Amino acid sequence: MEIFSEISPLKAFLADQKKIGKSIGLVPTMGALHEGHLTLIRASQKTHDLTVCSLFVNPLQFNNPEDLRHYPRPLALDVSMLEKVGCDVLFVPDTHEMYPSPPLLNLSFGMLEQRMEGAFRPGHFSGVAIVVSKLLHAVGPDSAFFGQKDWQQFVIIKQLVKDLNFPVTLVSIPTVREADGLALSSRNLRIPPHLRSVAGKLNKILTEARNKLQGGESTSYVHTWVTTQMSLLPETRLEYFEVVESENLTAVTDVRIANHPILCMAAYVGGIRLIDNMFLDLHAS
Ligand code: AMP
Repeated sequence: MEIFSEISPLKAFLADQKKIGKSIGLVPTMGALHEGHLTLIRASQKTHDLTVCSLFVNPLQFNNPEDLRHYPRPLALDVSMLEKVGCDVLFVPDTHEMYPSPPLLNLSFGMLEQRMEGAFRPGHFSGVAIVVSKLLHAVGPDSAFFGQKDWQQFVIIKQLVKDLNFPVTLVSIPTVREADGLALSSRNLRIPPHLRSVAGKLNKILTEARNKLQGGESTSYVHTWVTTQMSLLPETRLEYFEVVESENLTAVTDVRIANHPILCMAAYVGGIRLIDNMFLDLHAS
């Protein structure tokens, strides 16, 4: 695996590869890699000649300094996982390489960030959009791969790419989960061990909520039901549970007349913030 920490040599290397006709897939990550990230890499490998994984804990997208400080950074382990999966290129810049001076740019995404992550993490999506733009410029991939777990992020990046004409195809990959349904996340490493089984309940509640909606219950009933269920779990705090249209993220009041609704939630378990989501399949029951 070729490893670059600077943009210029990365660009020069990739320019040579493009000249000889190689297609390039980009998988942007913040490291502390797990099977979810590796699934994105494998998806890129299936469809592209060369896969570039970027690893950068982007300070711009953290609205909570404690979260940034505690974000896991097991670089040596990440490198060996990438080698093992056969990733071709790792781009691992430091903060100065990505931001030689603090960006003054501030991007906003209107109604796409009015609820959920956008509402609870001010500035988060501006930071995400800036770093993704810089990575797209640095790598110039044919496709970029993202996880469904961060669905709002995917919708916002789609808008970014559309508004700024980035010549890239975006691919969303289904969430990879632990056996009990907990969505894999780098933050799972920080869940206190005595609360690990509680964290697994989030997905069970989400699944049950989806079943209730599919069974004809109203969104307001299900909202109250989820809030009650979450209040029964120890050391947890529900931040939001929302049913929205997956393409434009507007709130859904009646799932029967909504376009591709998705259920999204964020909750703290023992102080660690976890998110999850699930599409509604109205033909399932
Ligand atoms: P992160 O390192 O958390 O910024 O995530 C990098 C990419 O991996 C993002 O596109 C995430 O949506 C994706 N990702 C994170 N967790 C999972 C998962 N459990 N399954 C699939 N993709 C994931």
